[in-house]
Amino acid sequence: MNLLIATNNAHKIQEIREILSGTGIILQSLLDRSDLPEPPEDGLTFEANAMQKARTIQSQVGGVVLADDSGLEVDALGGAPGVHSKRFSAEGTAASNNHLLLERMADVTLRTARFRCVLALVSPHYEGTVDGACEGKIATGTTGTQGFGYDPLFVPDELDGRTMAQASMQEKNAISHRGRAFRRLSELLDAAAAAERAR
Ligand code: IMP
Repeated sequence: MNLLIATNNAHKIQEIREILSGTGIILQSLLDRSDLPEPPEDGLTFEANAMQKARTIQSQVGGVVLADDSGLEVDALGGAPGVHSKRFSAEGTAASNNHLLLERMADVTLRTARFRCVLALVSPHYEGTVDGACEGKIATGTTGTQGFGYDPLFVPDELDGRTMAQASMQEKNAISHRGRAFRRLSELLDAAAAAERAR
C-alpha cells in the first residue's frame, strides 16, 4: 500500500519508514512530490496543525493522506516551545533552538518535558488523529549526534540517562512519540476503510 505523508522533513521520514518497515506500507513524502507546496501550519495545537497539513494536501491529490505534527513541551516553560518547536529561535536551526532552550532553562530545577506527536489521516470520507508521547527531562548541555532537533538535550525516562541523540534509531523509535503514534496508524487505516465501506 502506497501512502503519502505531508512532510518534507528528511529526518522524520527516515524514522517513519523504519517504524513502518515490515507493514507493507510504502511511504511517499513531499520530498518525492516537488509539484506539491509545503502546507501551512498555523494552528494552536499539534492536532490542529497535523489536520491542517493532511487536509491541505488531500484536497490537492485526493485519496488517503497522512501528516504529523510534533514538538517538545517543557513544563517549566508552560509547555513551550510546543507548536513553535521548529522555529523557537529566530534562526530556527537545531543548534540555535537548543541554545535558546538552554538559556531559558539556565536557573530552572524542574526540568521535566515531553515530546509529543499527533498523526492525522484524511481520506475522502474519514478524518482522524492518534498521538504518542515520550516523557523525559531537559539536560544541562547537549550530548550525542544521532537524531535531530532537540534530541541532544532530551533525556527520556526510558533510556538509562542517555540523551535521545545517543540512542540508535531503533532505540529511539521503540520509545519515541513518533514511534508510539505511528504504531497506531492501523487504527486510522481501519476506520478510514470502514467509512468507505459504509458509503
Ligand atoms: P514539525 O512537526 O515538522 O512542525 O516540527 C516539529 C519540530 O519539533 C522539529 O523541527 C524539532 O525541532 C522538534 N521535534 C519534533 N520531533 C522531534 C524529535 O523526534 N526529536 C527532536 N526534536 C523533535
